[in-house]
Amino acid sequence: MGRASRLAGRGGGGVIGGRVTLLVDPDALAHLARGRRSVLVSGTNGKTTTTRFLAAALATAGPTATNSGGANLPFGLVAALSSAPPGGLAALEVDEAYLGPVAAAVQPEVVCLLNLSRDQLDRINEVRLLAGRWRQALEAVAPAPADARGPTVVANADDPMVVWAASGADRVVWVGAGLSWRLDATGCPRCEGRIQFTDTDWSCGDCGLARPEPQVTVDEVALTDQAGRRHPFTLSLPGQCNRSNAAVAATAASLLGVDEAQALAAMEPVADVTGRYGVVRVGGVPARLLLSKNPAGWMEIFDFLRPPPSPVVVAINARIADGRDPSWLWDVPFERLAGRQVVATGERCRDLAVRLRYAEVDHVMVEDPVAAVAEARRFGDASQPVDVVANYTSFQGLRRAAADA
Ligand SMILES: [Zn+2]
Repeated sequence: MGRASRLAGRGGGGVIGGRVTLLVDPDALAHLARGRRSVLVSGTNGKTTTTRFLAAALATAGPTATNSGGANLPFGLVAALSSAPPGGLAALEVDEAYLGPVAAAVQPEVVCLLNLSRDQLDRINEVRLLAGRWRQALEAVAPAPADARGPTVVANADDPMVVWAASGADRVVWVGAGLSWRLDATGCPRCEGRIQFTDTDWSCGDCGLARPEPQVTVDEVALTDQAGRRHPFTLSLPGQCNRSNAAVAATAASLLGVDEAQALAAMEPVADVTGRYGVVRVGGVPARLLLSKNPAGWMEIFDFLRPPPSPVVVAINARIADGRDPSWLWDVPFERLAGRQVVATGERCRDLAVRLRYAEVDHVMVEDPVAAVAEARRFGDASQPVDVVANYTSFQGLRRAAADA
């Protein structure tokens, strides 16, 4: 069935196989998860990468089931678990909206909560709603049979939405994982008061909800674990946000008995996550594809880009999967692209060009993404791949263009 789906050109194949299984047995997920030691990973940004890191770490301890293709709805989880032998470990990425039912079915030992921000402008009101549902889910998860308590939550202390949600759990390990995008977290999730941020801290002036002291921290050199031990590490993936993702994954792995140093070493070779970060050829030109689905994702992208004057292609569509309204472009500080040539492309390249003009960033507009990559190469060092940042459907389009080349 998975093979048929791949042949039909619908992508990974994992989801179709899982859908059929669920139709046969509505308790399939609970059934397949029984006897496994599972970790769930959820959040708006970074869950695919964190899950990939975690799977690499857990695989050092034994067979590990994972939905590495990013199929993070219940169907995809069923497919991932049914393709792995029973027992063993599982590293599972879960869509934010499904965390409650999935946790109830899977009975995970650990749940990792990364961040919560709006994915698309038309979903802005969902952020606090989701935080509330996470909190209820963590309060409700029945203890695993071998365990007197619910799962341990590994949670980002820097995101007020996550902190409020995680506080519903029995046990939390707080990680100082950072929050580059704060605009969606200024309203207190507990009392609707105003969250005040400083560079390293946050608190609500009205109800006192405040940043918990992290037990795990990460910097440019090392992870400091709960016992205060430093574990220096390097990654193939760029950016401080990926070091934070690695810290969350290593902490989760340690709760399943994998030492942090061993876990981090296993993450180092991970260089490509479902086509992201990888260098491909687009119309014959080497290009590094970066996915950015939302404003928070953009804050991380600025950290990844090759420094100016390297050019960058920005590809924006506004189909249903992207969010129809591209006005979020005005929330992203594109001023940070100053000093380099930007090639605006995709179906909404005109909206982007207007935004770049206001940001006083040099740019040209090339509607066709493949031609845009070729255009960008003229502005940069031809020995380097062109950085291409795309939102969801434009990213998928560029991957297809690369595969067809
Ligand atoms: Zn408050």
